[in-house]
Amino acid sequence: MKRIERDKCILEMSKDHEPVENIKSGETIIFECLDCYGGQIVREDQDMSKVDWAFNNPSTGPLYIEGVKEGDIVKIEILDIKVEDKGVMTSRPGAGALKDKWDKLECSVIPIENNKAIFNDKISIPLDPMIGVIGLAPKNESIRNSTPDYHGGNMDCKRISKGSTVYLKSNVEGGLLSMGDIHGVMGDGEVSISGLEMNGEVEVRVTVLKDYKIPTPSVLSEDLFMTIYSAKTLDEAAVKATDSMFEFLVENIDISRKEAGNLLSLIGNLRINQIVDPLMTVRMELEKEIFDKYSYSFK
Ligand code: CA
Ligand code: CA
Repeated sequence: MKRIERDKCILEMSKDHEPVENIKSGETIIFECLDCYGGQIVREDQDMSKVDWAFNNPSTGPLYIEGVKEGDIVKIEILDIKVEDKGVMTSRPGAGALKDKWDKLECSVIPIENNKAIFNDKISIPLDPMIGVIGLAPKNESIRNSTPDYHGGNMDCKRISKGSTVYLKSNVEGGLLSMGDIHGVMGDGEVSISGLEMNGEVEVRVTVLKDYKIPTPSVLSEDLFMTIYSAKTLDEAAVKATDSMFEFLVENIDISRKEAGNLLSLIGNLRINQIVDPLMTVRMELEKEIFDKYSYSFK
């Protein structure tokens, strides 16, 4: 199987990047990924002034997908996520929902045993690995990996985990897929700016879908379909993520506008992906079973 090593990484997504690997539609590939600190933090007592903080959120790639044209949907099935044996977290003044709680940079290195993060002597947390940064090249200017947007990027969606499928619309020939920022576990919101940041590797199958209409970015899990939106405020992201699911329903299944609105009000769940990045990200979740009832099959 093809494999992209973790030193082949970029700090922004751009149509101008040279691909480091290429793949045919339907093939599988492994992305080796550094954690969001570029693997530079290994101990809590190391000299943090030597850490290059500008080297953050590296994403491995980009991968050129043969046959992808602008406007095609790139389907990325997350077949497996493997993580290493420790996780790193930081908090710092001025960052995140707890931004006024810290006088200085705080760093934690958390060991992993038996697939659990050993948080302290009372608490251990089962791992549920997910991908924080996954995206394609944007259409115009490059976008830093810290920022989520229409191209994917730093969406920090905890449902992007083993067994899920991510749909992104390509803006350029070849798509130029990259990913990184693996979290061993993360709560919705990522309130204090870190998930359990881990080096690891991701195995994916990448497929090109022609003439397929699906909102992007979106994610399909075993049980849920989710529309994702990133915006300057949580309010705007929430409205747009909901709008995206509503329009998808009325255009693709035999349901009235009134029913679609009622349905989302009754069983659609708005969730906060994260409130700590340059844009805020929200998802609208709806049971996949609804689509099954109308005989709608996701490609
Ligand atoms: Ca992130
Ligand atoms: Ca992260």
